[in-house]
Order: sequence, then structure tokens, then C-alpha cells
Amino acid sequence: MSHPRRVVVIGAGLSGLIAARDLVSHGFDVTVLDKGRGVGGRLATRRIGSPTTAVIDHGAQFFTVRSPDFAREVDAWTEAGVVREWCRGFGDDDGHPRYVGVDGMTSIAKHLARGLDVRTNSLVFAIKRGDASPWNVVLDDATVLPAQAVVVTCPLPQTYSLLVSAELEIPQALLSSEYDRTLALLAVLDRPATIGRHGGWQNPNATFSWIGDNHAKGISSVPAVTFHASPQWSLDHWDDDHDQAHAALRHAAAEFIPDCTIVTSEFKRWRFATPTSIWPEPCHVVTIESAHGPGVIALAGDAFAGPKIEGAALSGAAAAERVRAELATN
Ligand SMILES: Cc1cc2nc3c(=O)[nH]c(=O)nc-3n(C[C@H](O)[C@H](O)[C@H](O)COP(=O)(O)OP(=O)(O)OC[C@H]3O[C@@H](n4cnc5c(N)ncnc54)[C@H](O)[C@@H]3O)c2cc1C
Repeated sequence: MSHPRRVVVIGAGLSGLIAARDLVSHGFDVTVLDKGRGVGGRLATRRIGSPTTAVIDHGAQFFTVRSPDFAREVDAWTEAGVVREWCRGFGDDDGHPRYVGVDGMTSIAKHLARGLDVRTNSLVFAIKRGDASPWNVVLDDATVLPAQAVVVTCPLPQTYSLLVSAELEIPQALLSSEYDRTLALLAVLDRPATIGRHGGWQNPNATFSWIGDNHAKGISSVPAVTFHASPQWSLDHWDDDHDQAHAALRHAAAEFIPDCTIVTSEFKRWRFATPTSIWPEPCHVVTIESAHGPGVIALAGDAFAGPKIEGAALSGAAAAERVRAELATN
């Protein structure tokens, strides 16, 4: 039997969670699936060590606000105590607030996921045409979720394989979008470091694109620093042996923390860190006619409305609006 208001959202990153909340608030029956252990995607906060635990943002580090729509969203997050201002620039004060999640960047995703039907550890394998509804979303454990609309928010190269059996015309240029990679070093220190002004340093040299002090940022009581390798360094060292690349980053990091000792560190890889080009629409929507009414696929994420947190949020909101419009008018 078809469920005319049933939507599956793939990805519990910012884009997917914003889309899901909008659709739930308009009466849709929404399930969010994510292959990860938790919500957030590239809003990722890691806890290292016990009994004293360092809290380290290892994906997105902070965000800015440019558009009135996103400003309204961020005002609500601020009011809910989920985000706060970190500073207004890491060099000169440029007047633009840099916001952070109060307990790390995943705070934002955890807040947005509250009350939603979010299923983590759920790897989507394919989207296929259904017998009893326009779409069947198939998980790797063979679970099948029927849906009238599917919002897909994975990085676009990952979206490609999901759509192979959906028999849709999607521009090839869209699905083959490129992303920069990031190799990251998460370092727990024996004492506080001094990193730039306010604890952040953008593009300090050719090896690193970012150094962020999670202690100065106010999320970690234990001194802990995030080092992001630059896109070029990450590409050049992507296939290196894990331990070798980890050691190389520790070695390169030493000059920025001359008075500190690294107590422990972890090495992380982001294959799809930042899209290198942006699609000229805030989302891409395809609607098919089926025996069970219109079936909508909406592609969203930061490759659409801008390669940052604001872009991911605006794209998720745009996708939800288009799904509502397509299902209302067809
Ligand atoms: C190292 C790094 C630093 C960054 N720094 C900043 C910054 O300082 N400021 C800023 O504004 N932005 C920054 N960004 C970018 C920002 O994090 C992203 O733009 C934003 O979080 C993207 O959100 P999204 O929802 O589009 O995608 P994602 O957060 O990637 O969400 C997609 C989700 O889909 C899930 N998924 C993928 N495939 C499947 C599947 N088959 N089945 C189920 N689930 C699946 C993934 O697990 C993921 O949770 C940074 C990103 C990285 C990686």
C-alpha cells in the first residue's frame, strides 16, 4: 500500500536533519537513515581519553552566517543554548561572528535530531522503483523502506551508486562532482597551547589549512588541538601508510606547539571534506509519475548551496520545500 506522505531522508548531517525537521513540521512521516554510529556527518566531535576526556571537533570547526534565512535558524539555536559565538576573526576582527556548538559541533546535530525518527548504523545500499509505492529504499541488511519521496544528502559521488537502479536522468556533471580531502590530526596535549588569536589559525603553512585549539574554543577542559592538513598535502599523502602519515602530521605539528608534549593523538581521514564546485541550484529534484502517485527524489547537501555549514542548511531547507511543493501539486 502506498503512504502518500512518507519520506525517507538519507544522511543525518546538517542538510538531512534540516530537511527532516521541516517535513515533519508539515505533517510528513519521515525516517532519517545514516550509516554512521551517530548523527552529524561532517559535524563531528570526538571524545578521547578517560577519566579526563578531551573533546575535539575533527570535521567542521566553526561557522559563519550570511543569509537572513540561516540567521533565523542560528538565532533559534542560540536561544536553545546549542551554539554560541567563539570570536569575530582569527586575524583581525572582521565583525562576522564565528559560531560553535556549545559542546562541540555535533551539539547542533543532536539538537536537530531530537524527536525525529533517526536510525543510525543504517547503510543505504540502493533506491529502486517500488511495487507498492514510488520508491523502495534498500539497506545493506536487505531492509526495505517504501517512500513517496527520498531526500538524498550524501556527498554526491556516494549518491551516484545509490541511484543506479532508480532509472533517473541526473546530470552526469552533478554526480561526478569533486571534493577536496582532509587528513586530520587530533592531538591531546600535556598543557594548554597558544594557537593564533582566540585559538584558531587558518592556513598557517603549506602543510596545514587549519589549527584549532579546542581548549581555547571552550569545548574541552583538557588541552587538545585539531590540525587539518591542506587539500594538497592530504591528496599527496592520501595513500600513505596510516602510521606513516600520522607520524608525519605529528612531526609537522610540533613547530606550532613548541612548549607542549602530545600525550596521545588520533589520525582521521575525510575523503569528501569540501566540494570544489557548487551546483547552481540549492537542490536538484526529479519527480516521476507512478501508479502510486508522484515519486520525488531530491538531492541536497553542501555541494548545492555552498561548501559550508550555511550552504548545507540552506540546501536541506530548499529540498524540503521542493518535496512539499511536488507532492502538493502533483
Ligand atoms: C575537515 C572539515 C572541516 C570543515 N570545516 C568547516 C568549517 O570550519 N566551517 C564550515 O562552515 N564548514 C566546514 N566544513 C564543511 C561542513 O562540515 C559541511 O559543509 C557540512 O557539514 C555538510 O553537511 P551535509 O549534511 O551536506 O553533509 P554530511 O555532513 O556529510 O552528511 C551526509 C551524511 O550522509 C551519510 N551517508 C552517506 N552515505 C550514506 C549511505 N549510503 N547510507 C546512509 N547514510 C549515508 C553520512 O554518514 C553523513 O552523515 C568542514 C568539513 C570538513 C570535513
